[in-house]
Amino acid sequence: MNMADFALNEDQLQIQKWVHDFAETVIRPAGHEWDEREEMPMPIVQQAAEIGLYGWEFVMNAMADTSGLTLPVAIEELFWGDAGIGMAIMGSTLAAAGIAGIGTPEQVMEWVPQCYGDAKKVQLGAFCVSEPDAGSDVSSLRTRAVYDEANDEWVLNGTKAWITNGGIADVHVVVAAVDPVLKGRGQASFIVPPGTKGLSQGQKYKKHGIRASHTAEVVLDDVRVPGSCLLGGKAKLDAKLARAREGGHSGEKQPAMATFEATRPSVGAQALGIARAAYEYALDYAKERKAFGKPIVMHQAIAFKLANMATEIDASRLLIWRAAWLARNGGFKHGEGSMSKYKASEVAVHVTEEAIQILGGYGYTREYPVERWHRDAKIHTIFEGTSEIQQLVIARAISGMRVE
Ligand SMILES: Cc1cc2nc3c(=O)[nH]c(=O)nc-3n(C[C@H](O)[C@H](O)[C@H](O)COP(=O)(O)OP(=O)(O)OC[C@H]3O[C@@H](n4cnc5c(N)ncnc54)[C@H](O)[C@@H]3O)c2cc1C
Repeated sequence: MNMADFALNEDQLQIQKWVHDFAETVIRPAGHEWDEREEMPMPIVQQAAEIGLYGWEFVMNAMADTSGLTLPVAIEELFWGDAGIGMAIMGSTLAAAGIAGIGTPEQVMEWVPQCYGDAKKVQLGAFCVSEPDAGSDVSSLRTRAVYDEANDEWVLNGTKAWITNGGIADVHVVVAAVDPVLKGRGQASFIVPPGTKGLSQGQKYKKHGIRASHTAEVVLDDVRVPGSCLLGGKAKLDAKLARAREGGHSGEKQPAMATFEATRPSVGAQALGIARAAYEYALDYAKERKAFGKPIVMHQAIAFKLANMATEIDASRLLIWRAAWLARNGGFKHGEGSMSKYKASEVAVHVTEEAIQILGGYGYTREYPVERWHRDAKIHTIFEGTSEIQQLVIARAISGMRVE
Protein backbone atom coordinates (compact mmCIF):
# COMPACT_ATOMS: atom_id res chain seq x y z
CA MET A 1 0.00 0.00 0.00
CA ASN A 2 1.16 3.54 -0.58
CA MET A 3 -0.24 6.57 1.08
CA ALA A 4 -2.66 7.42 -1.72
CA ASP A 5 -4.30 3.99 -1.48
CA PHE A 6 -7.21 4.31 0.91
CA ALA A 7 -8.82 0.95 0.18
CA LEU A 8 -8.80 -1.20 3.31
CA ASN A 9 -7.64 -4.76 2.69
CA GLU A 10 -9.74 -7.85 3.45
CA ASP A 11 -8.26 -8.29 6.94
CA GLN A 12 -8.90 -4.68 7.83
CA LEU A 13 -12.48 -4.81 6.55
CA GLN A 14 -13.11 -7.92 8.61
CA ILE A 15 -11.65 -6.35 11.75
CA GLN A 16 -13.66 -3.19 11.15
CA LYS A 17 -16.88 -5.22 10.93
CA TRP A 18 -15.98 -7.42 13.89
CA VAL A 19 -15.30 -4.44 16.17
CA HIS A 20 -18.34 -2.59 14.86
CA ASP A 21 -20.62 -5.55 15.64
CA PHE A 22 -19.29 -5.73 19.21
CA ALA A 23 -19.62 -1.97 19.58
CA GLU A 24 -23.18 -2.02 18.30
CA THR A 25 -24.49 -5.01 20.21
CA VAL A 26 -22.52 -4.86 23.48
CA ILE A 27 -20.88 -1.47 24.01
CA ARG A 28 -23.42 1.05 22.72
CA PRO A 29 -26.35 -0.39 24.71
CA ALA A 30 -24.27 -0.30 27.92
CA GLY A 31 -22.85 3.21 27.50
CA HIS A 32 -25.48 5.12 29.48
CA GLU A 33 -25.50 2.70 32.42
CA TRP A 34 -21.74 2.75 33.00
CA ASP A 35 -21.55 6.50 32.52
CA GLU A 36 -24.12 6.91 35.28
CA ARG A 37 -22.38 4.36 37.51
CA GLU A 38 -18.99 6.06 36.96
CA GLU A 39 -17.36 2.67 37.33
CA MET A 40 -14.96 0.55 35.35
CA PRO A 41 -17.18 -1.79 33.26
CA MET A 42 -15.27 -4.98 34.05
CA PRO A 43 -18.01 -7.33 32.73
CA ILE A 44 -17.69 -5.68 29.32
CA VAL A 45 -13.88 -5.73 29.38
CA GLN A 46 -14.26 -9.42 30.22
CA GLN A 47 -16.55 -9.94 27.21
CA ALA A 48 -14.04 -8.10 25.01
CA ALA A 49 -11.32 -10.41 26.33
CA GLU A 50 -13.43 -13.46 25.52
CA ILE A 51 -13.72 -12.51 21.84
CA GLY A 52 -10.05 -11.46 21.70
CA LEU A 53 -10.68 -7.73 21.32
CA TYR A 54 -9.14 -6.98 24.71
CA GLY A 55 -5.76 -8.67 24.66
CA TRP A 56 -2.16 -8.26 23.72
CA GLU A 57 -2.34 -10.48 20.61
CA PHE A 58 -4.94 -8.25 19.02
CA VAL A 59 -3.06 -5.05 19.80
CA MET A 60 0.34 -6.41 18.77
CA ASN A 61 -1.09 -7.79 15.50
CA ALA A 62 -2.79 -4.49 14.79
CA MET A 63 0.43 -2.58 15.57
CA ALA A 64 2.37 -4.91 13.27
CA ASP A 65 0.22 -3.96 10.27
CA THR A 66 2.62 -2.19 7.91
CA SER A 67 -0.05 0.17 6.55
CA GLY A 68 -0.65 1.42 10.11
CA LEU A 69 -4.41 1.59 9.47
CA THR A 70 -5.70 -1.45 11.36
CA LEU A 71 -5.44 0.13 14.80
CA PRO A 72 -7.15 3.45 13.98
CA VAL A 73 -9.86 1.64 12.03
CA ALA A 74 -10.59 -0.65 15.02
CA ILE A 75 -10.43 2.19 17.53
CA GLU A 76 -12.85 4.34 15.53
CA GLU A 77 -15.44 1.56 15.71
CA LEU A 78 -14.80 0.91 19.41
CA PHE A 79 -15.28 4.56 20.35
CA TRP A 80 -18.25 4.83 18.00
CA GLY A 81 -19.83 2.37 20.44
CA ASP A 82 -19.02 4.37 23.57
CA ALA A 83 -15.95 6.34 24.56
CA GLY A 84 -16.02 5.63 28.31
CA ILE A 85 -16.20 1.89 27.72
CA GLY A 86 -13.83 2.26 24.76
CA MET A 87 -11.28 3.86 27.07
CA ALA A 88 -11.79 1.10 29.64
CA ILE A 89 -10.86 -1.36 26.89
CA MET A 90 -8.01 0.74 25.44
CA GLY A 91 -6.51 2.07 28.69
CA SER A 92 -4.09 -0.83 29.06
CA THR A 93 -2.76 -0.21 25.56
CA LEU A 94 -1.05 3.02 26.59
CA ALA A 95 0.97 1.03 29.12
CA ALA A 96 1.66 -1.64 26.50
CA ALA A 97 2.81 1.04 24.04
CA GLY A 98 5.07 2.51 26.73
CA ILE A 99 6.69 -0.90 27.16
CA ALA A 100 6.81 -1.78 23.45
CA GLY A 101 8.35 1.61 22.62
CA ILE A 102 11.47 1.34 24.76
CA GLY A 103 11.58 -2.09 26.42
CA THR A 104 14.01 -4.79 25.39
CA PRO A 105 12.44 -7.69 23.41
CA GLU A 106 12.52 -9.79 26.62
CA GLN A 107 10.75 -7.06 28.60
CA VAL A 108 8.14 -6.67 25.88
CA MET A 109 7.44 -10.41 25.87
CA GLU A 110 7.26 -10.56 29.65
CA TRP A 111 5.23 -7.46 30.45
CA VAL A 112 2.97 -6.56 27.52
CA PRO A 113 0.84 -9.74 27.93
CA GLN A 114 0.55 -8.99 31.67
CA CYS A 115 -1.03 -5.62 30.86
CA TYR A 116 -4.04 -7.58 29.56
CA GLY A 117 -4.02 -11.03 31.18
CA ASP A 118 -6.41 -13.37 29.39
CA ALA A 119 -10.09 -14.28 29.30
CA LYS A 120 -9.66 -16.44 32.43
CA LYS A 121 -8.05 -13.61 34.38
CA VAL A 122 -8.33 -10.17 32.88
CA GLN A 123 -5.54 -7.79 33.92
CA LEU A 124 -5.02 -4.07 33.42
CA GLY A 125 -2.10 -1.79 32.64
CA ALA A 126 -1.54 1.87 33.52
CA PHE A 127 0.91 4.36 32.06
CA CYS A 128 1.93 6.83 34.75
CA VAL A 129 3.54 10.04 33.59
CA SER A 130 1.47 13.06 34.66
CA GLU A 131 1.83 14.58 38.11
CA PRO A 132 -0.09 17.24 40.04
CA ASP A 133 2.52 19.82 38.96
CA ALA A 134 3.59 18.33 35.64
CA GLY A 135 1.11 17.56 32.87
CA SER A 136 2.05 19.24 29.60
CA ASP A 137 5.51 19.93 30.98
CA VAL A 138 6.62 16.32 31.25
CA SER A 139 10.24 17.38 31.59
CA SER A 140 9.67 18.56 35.16
CA LEU A 141 8.52 15.31 36.77
CA ARG A 142 9.20 15.14 40.51
CA THR A 143 8.81 11.40 40.94
CA ARG A 144 12.30 10.12 41.67
CA ALA A 145 13.95 6.83 40.86
CA VAL A 146 17.10 6.08 42.86
CA TYR A 147 19.32 3.09 42.15
CA ASP A 148 20.19 0.86 45.11
CA GLU A 149 23.29 -0.78 43.71
CA ALA A 150 23.80 -3.21 46.60
CA ASN A 151 20.45 -4.87 45.91
CA ASP A 152 20.20 -4.10 42.18
CA GLU A 153 16.87 -2.41 42.84
CA TRP A 154 15.28 0.90 41.92
CA VAL A 155 13.43 2.86 44.59
CA LEU A 156 10.53 5.02 43.35
CA ASN A 157 8.91 7.87 45.27
CA GLY A 158 6.32 10.39 44.13
CA THR A 159 2.69 10.99 43.21
CA LYS A 160 1.18 10.53 39.76
CA ALA A 161 -2.05 12.33 38.80
CA TRP A 162 -4.97 11.52 36.44
CA ILE A 163 -3.78 8.02 35.65
CA THR A 164 -6.09 5.85 33.57
CA ASN A 165 -6.45 2.53 35.47
CA GLY A 166 -4.26 4.07 38.19
CA GLY A 167 -4.10 1.95 41.34
CA ILE A 168 -6.41 -0.76 39.96
CA ALA A 169 -3.93 -1.87 37.26
CA ASP A 170 -1.85 -5.02 37.60
CA VAL A 171 1.11 -3.51 35.75
CA HIS A 172 2.02 0.15 36.26
CA VAL A 173 4.57 1.71 33.92
CA VAL A 174 6.07 4.66 35.78
CA VAL A 175 8.14 7.43 34.21
CA ALA A 176 10.47 8.98 36.81
CA ALA A 177 13.45 11.32 37.08
CA VAL A 178 16.75 9.53 37.57
CA ASP A 179 18.73 12.75 37.24
CA PRO A 180 16.35 15.71 37.69
CA VAL A 181 19.02 18.22 36.61
CA LEU A 182 18.86 16.75 33.10
CA LYS A 183 15.06 17.30 33.02
CA GLY A 184 13.42 15.18 30.29
CA ARG A 185 16.72 13.61 29.27
CA GLY A 186 17.31 12.38 32.81
CA GLN A 187 14.11 10.31 32.94
CA ALA A 188 13.51 6.60 32.62
CA SER A 189 10.52 4.23 32.62
CA PHE A 190 10.01 1.42 35.11
CA ILE A 191 7.68 -1.53 35.37
CA VAL A 192 6.00 -1.83 38.74
CA PRO A 193 4.91 -5.49 38.80
CA PRO A 194 1.59 -6.69 40.24
CA GLY A 195 1.39 -6.63 44.03
CA THR A 196 4.48 -4.49 44.59
CA LYS A 197 4.50 -2.94 48.09
CA GLY A 198 4.34 0.84 48.40
CA LEU A 199 2.16 1.53 45.34
CA SER A 200 -1.36 2.63 46.19
CA GLN A 201 -4.29 4.44 44.69
CA GLY A 202 -4.86 8.03 45.81
CA GLN A 203 -8.06 9.89 45.03
CA LYS A 204 -10.31 8.61 42.27
CA TYR A 205 -11.42 11.55 40.15
CA LYS A 206 -15.08 12.31 39.43
CA LYS A 207 -15.03 13.40 35.82
CA HIS A 208 -16.95 15.39 33.21
CA GLY A 209 -16.83 12.59 30.62
CA ILE A 210 -15.48 9.10 29.84
CA ARG A 211 -16.84 8.28 33.27
CA ALA A 212 -16.73 4.52 32.75
CA SER A 213 -12.95 4.80 32.55
CA HIS A 214 -11.16 4.75 35.91
CA THR A 215 -8.88 7.75 36.52
CA ALA A 216 -6.98 8.12 39.79
CA GLU A 217 -3.83 9.26 41.54
CA VAL A 218 -1.06 6.74 42.02
CA VAL A 219 1.08 7.12 45.14
CA LEU A 220 4.58 5.63 45.13
CA ASP A 221 6.03 5.32 48.61
CA ASP A 222 9.46 3.67 48.64
CA VAL A 223 8.41 1.30 45.88
CA ARG A 224 11.24 -1.16 45.21
CA VAL A 225 11.47 -2.86 41.84
CA PRO A 226 14.22 -5.18 40.55
CA GLY A 227 16.88 -3.75 38.24
CA SER A 228 15.34 -5.79 35.41
CA CYS A 229 12.25 -3.54 35.60
CA LEU A 230 14.12 -0.56 34.15
CA LEU A 231 12.80 -0.44 30.58
CA GLY A 232 15.57 -0.65 28.00
CA GLY A 233 18.13 -1.77 30.60
CA LYS A 234 20.79 -0.05 32.72
CA ALA A 235 23.58 0.05 30.15
CA LYS A 236 21.40 1.98 27.71
CA LEU A 237 20.24 4.39 30.42
CA ASP A 238 23.81 4.99 31.65
CA ALA A 239 24.99 5.74 28.11
CA LYS A 240 22.08 8.12 27.56
CA LEU A 241 22.72 9.95 30.84
CA ALA A 242 26.46 10.20 30.10
CA ARG A 243 25.78 11.77 26.71
CA ALA A 244 23.26 14.18 28.22
CA ARG A 245 25.75 15.20 30.95
CA GLU A 246 28.39 15.91 28.32
CA GLY A 247 25.86 18.19 26.68
CA GLY A 248 25.52 16.05 23.57
CA HIS A 249 22.22 14.80 22.26
CA SER A 250 21.38 11.24 23.14
CA GLY A 251 19.43 10.85 19.92
CA GLU A 252 16.68 9.31 22.02
CA LYS A 253 13.36 10.94 22.77
CA GLN A 254 12.09 11.38 26.32
CA PRO A 255 10.37 8.09 27.16
CA ALA A 256 6.99 9.70 27.76
CA MET A 257 7.15 11.81 24.62
CA ALA A 258 8.14 8.83 22.46
CA THR A 259 5.05 6.95 23.64
CA PHE A 260 2.70 9.89 23.20
CA GLU A 261 3.98 10.62 19.67
CA ALA A 262 3.40 7.07 18.52
CA THR A 263 -0.11 6.93 19.96
CA ARG A 264 -1.40 10.24 18.58
CA PRO A 265 -3.18 8.89 15.48
CA SER A 266 -4.89 6.32 17.73
CA VAL A 267 -6.08 9.04 20.09
CA GLY A 268 -7.34 10.95 17.05
CA ALA A 269 -9.22 7.81 16.00
CA GLN A 270 -10.94 7.70 19.41
CA ALA A 271 -12.21 11.24 18.90
CA LEU A 272 -13.23 10.40 15.34
CA GLY A 273 -15.37 7.48 16.54
CA ILE A 274 -17.27 9.77 18.94
CA ALA A 275 -17.76 12.43 16.25
CA ARG A 276 -19.08 9.89 13.75
CA ALA A 277 -21.50 8.47 16.31
CA ALA A 278 -22.91 11.92 17.02
CA TYR A 279 -23.12 12.88 13.35
CA GLU A 280 -24.96 9.68 12.37
CA TYR A 281 -27.34 10.05 15.30
CA ALA A 282 -28.07 13.69 14.45
CA LEU A 283 -28.57 12.90 10.75
CA ASP A 284 -31.13 10.17 11.51
CA TYR A 285 -32.88 12.43 13.99
CA ALA A 286 -33.00 15.35 11.55
CA LYS A 287 -34.72 13.19 8.96
CA GLU A 288 -37.42 12.17 11.46
CA ARG A 289 -38.03 15.28 13.53
CA LYS A 290 -40.50 17.68 11.99
CA ALA A 291 -40.73 21.43 12.57
CA PHE A 292 -42.80 23.88 10.53
CA GLY A 293 -44.29 21.05 8.53
CA LYS A 294 -41.16 19.32 7.32
CA PRO A 295 -38.26 17.26 8.58
CA ILE A 296 -35.70 19.60 10.14
CA VAL A 297 -33.05 18.32 7.70
CA MET A 298 -35.04 20.15 5.02
CA HIS A 299 -34.21 23.43 6.78
CA GLN A 300 -30.94 24.58 5.31
CA ALA A 301 -29.56 25.71 8.68
CA ILE A 302 -29.70 22.11 9.91
CA ALA A 303 -28.67 20.50 6.61
CA PHE A 304 -25.59 22.73 6.38
CA LYS A 305 -24.59 21.84 9.92
CA LEU A 306 -24.72 18.18 8.92
CA ALA A 307 -22.80 18.89 5.71
CA ASN A 308 -20.06 20.57 7.74
CA MET A 309 -20.02 17.76 10.29
CA ALA A 310 -19.60 15.15 7.53
CA THR A 311 -16.82 17.17 5.89
CA GLU A 312 -14.91 17.72 9.11
CA ILE A 313 -15.19 14.05 10.06
CA ASP A 314 -13.83 12.93 6.70
CA ALA A 315 -11.00 15.48 6.93
CA SER A 316 -10.11 14.13 10.38
CA ARG A 317 -10.07 10.55 9.13
CA LEU A 318 -7.78 11.46 6.24
CA LEU A 319 -5.33 13.15 8.62
CA ILE A 320 -5.45 10.17 10.99
CA TRP A 321 -4.88 7.63 8.24
CA ARG A 322 -2.02 9.68 6.82
CA ALA A 323 -0.38 9.95 10.25
CA ALA A 324 -0.91 6.26 10.99
CA TRP A 325 0.64 5.37 7.64
CA LEU A 326 3.58 7.74 8.15
CA ALA A 327 4.19 6.39 11.66
CA ARG A 328 4.92 3.02 10.02
CA ASN A 329 6.46 4.37 6.81
CA GLY A 330 9.16 6.93 7.36
CA GLY A 331 7.86 8.85 10.38
CA PHE A 332 6.35 12.28 10.92
CA LYS A 333 8.04 15.22 9.21
CA HIS A 334 5.78 18.21 9.78
CA GLY A 335 3.94 17.27 12.95
CA GLU A 336 1.47 15.03 11.09
CA GLY A 337 0.77 12.93 14.22
CA SER A 338 -0.11 16.04 16.19
CA MET A 339 -2.17 17.43 13.30
CA SER A 340 -4.32 14.31 13.29
CA LYS A 341 -4.92 14.31 17.05
CA TYR A 342 -5.48 18.07 17.19
CA LYS A 343 -7.93 18.17 14.30
CA ALA A 344 -9.93 15.10 15.28
CA SER A 345 -10.24 16.23 18.91
CA GLU A 346 -11.45 19.71 18.07
CA VAL A 347 -13.81 18.29 15.44
CA ALA A 348 -15.24 15.82 17.96
CA VAL A 349 -16.02 18.60 20.43
CA HIS A 350 -17.61 20.74 17.72
CA VAL A 351 -19.57 17.95 16.04
CA THR A 352 -20.99 16.63 19.31
CA GLU A 353 -22.05 20.15 20.28
CA GLU A 354 -23.74 20.56 16.91
CA ALA A 355 -25.47 17.22 17.46
CA ILE A 356 -26.94 18.54 20.71
CA GLN A 357 -28.12 21.63 18.83
CA ILE A 358 -29.79 19.50 16.16
CA LEU A 359 -31.61 17.44 18.79
CA GLY A 360 -32.72 20.64 20.53
CA GLY A 361 -34.13 20.14 24.04
CA TYR A 362 -33.92 16.37 23.74
CA GLY A 363 -30.24 16.66 22.98
CA TYR A 364 -29.64 18.40 26.28
CA THR A 365 -31.13 15.58 28.32
CA ARG A 366 -29.53 12.33 29.43
CA GLU A 367 -32.33 10.44 27.70
CA TYR A 368 -30.37 10.87 24.49
CA PRO A 369 -26.70 9.97 24.07
CA VAL A 370 -25.42 13.12 22.38
CA GLU A 371 -24.84 15.09 25.59
CA ARG A 372 -22.74 12.17 26.89
CA TRP A 373 -20.79 12.05 23.66
CA HIS A 374 -20.11 15.78 23.97
CA ARG A 375 -18.76 15.29 27.50
CA ASP A 376 -16.72 12.32 26.30
CA ALA A 377 -15.30 14.20 23.31
CA LYS A 378 -13.87 16.99 25.47
CA ILE A 379 -11.15 14.87 27.06
CA HIS A 380 -9.52 14.49 23.67
CA THR A 381 -8.47 18.14 23.56
CA ILE A 382 -6.79 17.66 26.95
CA PHE A 383 -5.10 14.29 27.44
CA GLU A 384 -2.11 12.91 25.61
CA GLY A 385 -1.08 16.43 24.74
CA THR A 386 -3.57 19.30 24.88
CA SER A 387 -4.63 21.07 21.68
CA GLU A 388 -2.21 23.89 22.55
CA ILE A 389 0.67 21.43 22.92
CA GLN A 390 -0.22 19.82 19.57
CA GLN A 391 -0.11 23.27 17.99
CA LEU A 392 3.28 23.83 19.60
CA VAL A 393 4.60 20.57 18.15
CA ILE A 394 3.24 21.44 14.69
CA ALA A 395 4.58 25.00 14.89
CA ARG A 396 8.05 23.75 15.80
CA ALA A 397 7.98 21.11 13.07
CA ILE A 398 6.93 23.47 10.29
CA SER A 399 9.17 26.38 11.36
CA GLY A 400 12.20 24.52 12.58
CA MET A 401 12.26 27.10 15.41
CA ARG A 402 11.99 26.61 19.15
CA VAL A 403 8.52 28.20 19.44
CA GLU A 404 7.67 28.53 23.17
C1 LIG B 1 -9.37 11.54 32.08
C2 LIG B 1 -7.88 11.70 32.04
C3 LIG B 1 -7.10 10.60 31.81
C4 LIG B 1 -5.70 10.76 31.80
N1 LIG B 1 -4.91 9.64 31.67
C5 LIG B 1 -3.57 9.76 31.83
C6 LIG B 1 -2.74 8.60 31.87
O1 LIG B 1 -3.21 7.47 31.74
N2 LIG B 1 -1.41 8.77 32.08
C7 LIG B 1 -0.85 10.01 32.24
O2 LIG B 1 0.35 10.08 32.44
N3 LIG B 1 -1.61 11.13 32.22
C8 LIG B 1 -2.95 11.03 32.02
N4 LIG B 1 -3.75 12.17 32.01
C9 LIG B 1 -3.13 13.48 32.20
C10 LIG B 1 -3.16 14.35 30.95
O3 LIG B 1 -2.26 13.85 29.99
C11 LIG B 1 -2.83 15.80 31.37
O4 LIG B 1 -3.95 16.28 32.07
C12 LIG B 1 -2.55 16.68 30.18
O5 LIG B 1 -1.30 16.34 29.63
C13 LIG B 1 -2.52 18.16 30.52
O6 LIG B 1 -1.72 18.41 31.64
P1 LIG B 1 -2.26 19.32 32.85
O7 LIG B 1 -3.59 18.79 33.20
O8 LIG B 1 -1.22 19.40 33.89
O9 LIG B 1 -2.46 20.75 32.22
P2 LIG B 1 -1.35 21.90 32.13
O10 LIG B 1 -0.11 21.36 31.55
O11 LIG B 1 -1.28 22.57 33.44
O12 LIG B 1 -2.04 22.86 31.08
C14 LIG B 1 -3.06 23.79 31.46
C15 LIG B 1 -3.38 24.64 30.22
O13 LIG B 1 -2.19 25.37 29.83
C16 LIG B 1 -1.88 25.07 28.47
N5 LIG B 1 -0.43 25.03 28.31
C17 LIG B 1 0.50 24.39 29.07
N6 LIG B 1 1.74 24.59 28.59
C18 LIG B 1 1.59 25.36 27.47
C19 LIG B 1 2.51 25.91 26.52
N7 LIG B 1 3.80 25.67 26.58
N8 LIG B 1 2.00 26.65 25.50
C20 LIG B 1 0.67 26.87 25.40
N9 LIG B 1 -0.24 26.39 26.28
C21 LIG B 1 0.22 25.64 27.29
C22 LIG B 1 -2.52 23.71 28.22
O14 LIG B 1 -2.73 23.49 26.83
C23 LIG B 1 -3.79 23.79 29.02
O15 LIG B 1 -4.78 24.48 28.27
C24 LIG B 1 -5.13 12.04 31.98
C25 LIG B 1 -5.95 13.14 32.18
C26 LIG B 1 -7.32 12.99 32.23
C27 LIG B 1 -8.17 14.21 32.51
